[in-house]
Amino acid sequence: MTLIKSNGYNIIIGDNSIDSLSNFLEIKKYTSYFILSDQNIIKLCLPHLLIACPKLITAQIIKIKPGEKSKSLKFSTLIWQTLIDKNADKNALLINFGGGVISDLGGFSAATFKRGIDFINIPTTLLAMADASLGGKTGINFNEFKNIIGTIKQPKGVFINTEFLKTLSQRQLKNGLAEIYKIALVNSHPFWNELAAFSEKTSYIKLITKSIQIKNKIILKDPFDIGIRKSLNFGHTIGHAIESEFLNSEAPMLHGEAVLIGLLIESKISYQKQLISKPMLIEIYSVLTSHFKPRSISEIPISSIINRIKNDKKASKNILLFSLINGIGSFKIDVIVSETQIQKAITDHNNLIR
Ligand code: ADP
Ligand code: ZN
Repeated sequence: MTLIKSNGYNIIIGDNSIDSLSNFLEIKKYTSYFILSDQNIIKLCLPHLLIACPKLITAQIIKIKPGEKSKSLKFSTLIWQTLIDKNADKNALLINFGGGVISDLGGFSAATFKRGIDFINIPTTLLAMADASLGGKTGINFNEFKNIIGTIKQPKGVFINTEFLKTLSQRQLKNGLAEIYKIALVNSHPFWNELAAFSEKTSYIKLITKSIQIKNKIILKDPFDIGIRKSLNFGHTIGHAIESEFLNSEAPMLHGEAVLIGLLIESKISYQKQLISKPMLIEIYSVLTSHFKPRSISEIPISSIINRIKNDKKASKNILLFSLINGIGSFKIDVIVSETQIQKAITDHNNLIR
């Protein structure tokens, strides 16, 4: 079992993490428990959780529909209404049991209910284990804008058990892997080299632990995302724009799938800005395209991607600021990028990935 100390809470990783959860609940003496989850996780993972932690058998289950569309005010309202209907007081605990959608939505709803009740995260996707469940970013989408309403509020604990990954689809595993490659690209060349050699045999628990250790160091230094934490947005300015573009399409893109394309295009921008060399850019394309199959975005008008970036919460006035890489394993934040540069990077990318 690994214990990583974060911002006022512990992240517990390992097969015994649910035992630690039982101890945690024993000590905390909450007045009631609410488990926020979606129908897939309730079916596939909840029985395992309840067997390992019988204290939660009395918990009220709040069930939402799976998918990014549930990260909305409608479902926050459902959570608040259930908490009210079941007389949740200030000492109630919300348990976010699921992927990033659940921890973002649940964290936001808990942070705002009665000016804040405690919540913990028990991630069930690779993406949430390695990335979304720690750091305290919570929020919902609004009017098609990703994560535009939200707050930073730390969970009281994160309990990670990779057993839950056994039922996760290959597509969802790749989705989480994309964020792990991002963390390496931005912060650790040795970790990037390990990931370049990734194979089916690689242990997820090692990758998750490494990602968390790296991310934790950054968020401890900059919990409110005003300085170095912005480095973790690498791939996300373009990635969010692409994700939003596909949000209401017949085949929506997963967050990690969009971020993967963002990593490629923003690496091109880093190259244009002379922050990385041509061989580095080639290495990044070759490693990422050998482990992932990025979807083509050539049917999306580049102007609509640029418009979305302008409306991104990170854009201030009309200056477009990007977090880029400055070599493999190091970063540069707040780099001004022009529309022409974005246009060129996307055009070059589209010529390679059709
Ligand atoms: P994330 O934001 O972490 O990528 P989501 O919360 O969108 O994840 O969940 C992705 C999908 O995977 C949802 O349909 C969810 O029901 C499903 N899911 C989550 N965890 C598991 C699991 N352990 N096994 C099978 N399906 C899961
Ligand atoms: Zn992300």
